[in-house]
Amino acid sequence: MKVLKFGGTSVGSADSIRSVLAIVTAAYQAGEKPLVVLSAMSGITNLLTQMAEDAAEGKPFESGIKVLEEKHFEVVRKLIAVKFQNPVFTKLKLFFNEIEDLLQGIYALKELSNQSRDLVVSYGERCSTFLVSKIAEQHLEEALFVDASHYIKTNSNFGHASVNDEITDQLIRALANTNADKLMFVTGFIGSNENGRITTLGRGGSDYTAAIFGSVLNASAIEIWTDVNGMLTADPRIVKKAFSLPVLSYTEAMELSYFGAKVIYPPTMIPAFLKKIPIIIRNTFQPEFEGTVIQFDSGKTSYPIKGISSISDISVINLSGSGMIGKSGFSGRLFTLLAREQINVVLITQSSSEHSITFAVHPDDARKAVQLIEAEFELELEANKLVRPEIENDLSVLAIVGENMKKTPGMSGKLFAALGRNGINVRAIAQGSSEFNISVIISKIDLAKALNAVHDAFFAELKKTLHVFNLGTGNIGSTLFKQLENQHDFLSDKNDIDIKVVGISNSRKMVFSESGINLGNWEADLNENGIDADLPLFVEKMKAMNLPNCVFIDNTASKVPSSYYEDIFRSNISIVTCNKIANSGKYEQYKSLHDTARKYGVDFFYETNVGAGLPIVRVLKDLMMSGDRIIRIEAILSGTISYIFNNFKDDASFYDVVMKAQELGYTEPDPRDDLGGVDFMRKMLILARDAGHAIESEDVDLGAILPEACLKADSVASFYEELKKEDAYFEALKAKAKAENKVIRYIGKLENGKVAISVQLVDETHPFYSLSGSDNIISFTTERYKERPLVVKGPGAGAEVTAAGVFADLVNVGA
Ligand code: ADP
Ligand code: ASP
Ligand code: MG
Repeated sequence: MKVLKFGGTSVGSADSIRSVLAIVTAAYQAGEKPLVVLSAMSGITNLLTQMAEDAAEGKPFESGIKVLEEKHFEVVRKLIAVKFQNPVFTKLKLFFNEIEDLLQGIYALKELSNQSRDLVVSYGERCSTFLVSKIAEQHLEEALFVDASHYIKTNSNFGHASVNDEITDQLIRALANTNADKLMFVTGFIGSNENGRITTLGRGGSDYTAAIFGSVLNASAIEIWTDVNGMLTADPRIVKKAFSLPVLSYTEAMELSYFGAKVIYPPTMIPAFLKKIPIIIRNTFQPEFEGTVIQFDSGKTSYPIKGISSISDISVINLSGSGMIGKSGFSGRLFTLLAREQINVVLITQSSSEHSITFAVHPDDARKAVQLIEAEFELELEANKLVRPEIENDLSVLAIVGENMKKTPGMSGKLFAALGRNGINVRAIAQGSSEFNISVIISKIDLAKALNAVHDAFFAELKKTLHVFNLGTGNIGSTLFKQLENQHDFLSDKNDIDIKVVGISNSRKMVFSESGINLGNWEADLNENGIDADLPLFVEKMKAMNLPNCVFIDNTASKVPSSYYEDIFRSNISIVTCNKIANSGKYEQYKSLHDTARKYGVDFFYETNVGAGLPIVRVLKDLMMSGDRIIRIEAILSGTISYIFNNFKDDASFYDVVMKAQELGYTEPDPRDDLGGVDFMRKMLILARDAGHAIESEDVDLGAILPEACLKADSVASFYEELKKEDAYFEALKAKAKAENKVIRYIGKLENGKVAISVQLVDETHPFYSLSGSDNIISFTTERYKERPLVVKGPGAGAEVTAAGVFADLVNVGA
């Protein structure tokens, strides 16, 4: 059997309850014999607590009852067939009446004991679990509502009760025996003491309930279904780059949750640990994600730590004085005292001189702790052997956790360097005796910054792993995969960069693998394991996988992907693309994309938009950044046109040359796509924009190579016919060039913010005169390169060089 526990958000609305039941039904039908443990609907435990506190203070609480009713009744209306609704409404109404009576009592007495509080909040789990069991019953008649307070027996420490294992064991076993064929829906969080008074197991305690049931019934797994992809490296609400951990040891999970990773309640690990039952944290809203397995072995990882967690609100008490020197009994007395009074000491540090002890407690306990200390050490205080303790507030604890830490030197150095570089002051330090954690106390206002800085230090800087999502598997995409595969070991060994392609999509299929797709076998993987291609879903999945250092590569020529770029940047994912469309559309879009990338601190690299792998975009950027001023840019950026003009000489007719170029695969299927100059125009447009000019494609003066009739032909065949007819026109051009000792070139020029592209005849003094084959050439005339322009020349097309350009961009991401 298996325990499935669903948290507050999972049962928080009709929609999410639908997902819960789909998961439960699947497990049930797969013969996994699930036992379901449920939390209160999200927000309800807090609401009930608030109402009880209001009542005790004599404030009105009735509006809370309304909220309670509305939240539960809405689900009844949506998920229970009309004919079955009445008894459910009646039972819930009964629960609400009981709550109201209780609150009336508290209101009358103006007193709220821990015992009454537990009773009030216990209704949260009872209402939700009853409700969900009734919804389930419509399809699964074996569904049975179980109030766990009858089976989990505890002491009377209300609010934080400890479980009596022996009796609980017997009761749960008996329950399971009598209901062997039932599908039990069990309330989380609650138990009862020996007098049958309701107790609770501590906030977040439904996880613990799941572990108790799982342990008694020897479950094969305890699944904790929540609203995130398992345990992440840090709190995802604060650290955007936090990513899911596939495996944790019980100890690591315990340490992380103890220091604030609320996704699992620390005591949950104990029963599971004792019986070696794996706990699996999974996401109700993304059930296909494997989640985090918590088990005995901490698993292999390339990182020295597993995660970083934090408690945002902590108070620190400092004790110092000569009376403490050499008095070994002192700390014993201190901590026995605090334990006896149930004050939880989160963290302790002691200076090596033993002159002072600093310890951290929950802010609510601070005052009481000081009073206790003052009473206990009255004599020492009077004799001035101890300085009167003071409380420091507004502090937080940050802890780094991982079993690997023990084996890796320099961990605290790295931690403090990261904090120091970011100007964060460390108030106190503690290292757990297990060496599985190092914790520091810092100012609360620094917490978010500290978490992010430390996360970067441990997870980004190390071996930089780039997680790549590649769209497009045509010539360039597939060549890139080949190059990545060949270079993988070199990059990893020499440059400390590990590039993992974790998502691939073409127009038919898409496939994902968090551990990296084997690039030697990507095609088969995509075809055999891929699901139907769906770009919006690809983008959603990319975000949901929530991996650090993510790069989206657009290796397509399609218009569609560019409409997702902004959204991708906003998810802190960089983009590398050879696709020109985004940058050569409306200026508005160009600007907005660049602004967004800058705002979110991600990279937008598109070197291959101009001149394939040649460093053109980068050179222009470097010139601009170093304060140079661009006077003029001249360029030949169409390899196809270069090839055609270079071969248009002697006896060859223009027609023959174009034909030959097409045969050799140098042109697009319709050669006019090259000869029309639009592609060239786009490249010039991008350069002009990168040079700081807000221009649109309509502003470009695009001179034609072809006479009107050729352009207007309605098919490729008739285009060639027209081209043949224009023989005289091209022959005249050739003759003129020859007579003047010049060559024909199609040249783009940017000057004074204007872009023009035209057919020109140039003589041997011109740098473009000697351009051969299908090469590209660009010359930058700038304030610094005025006499002799800076020239970049080389092959400007082809899958091999373009893929290499994409590769170079990729390696530079985050650099
Ligand atoms: P449930 O209601 O399902 O029990 P909780 O709210 O108790 O869920 O716990 C899940 C939440 O824990 C997440 O939504 C997340 O915001 C928070 N959280 C804090 N630290 C972490 C972490 N390291 N990994 C995952 N979630 C975390
Ligand atoms: N409902 C309880 C709480 O909010 C228990 C739980 O959800 O685990 O703390
Ligand atoms: Mg929880």
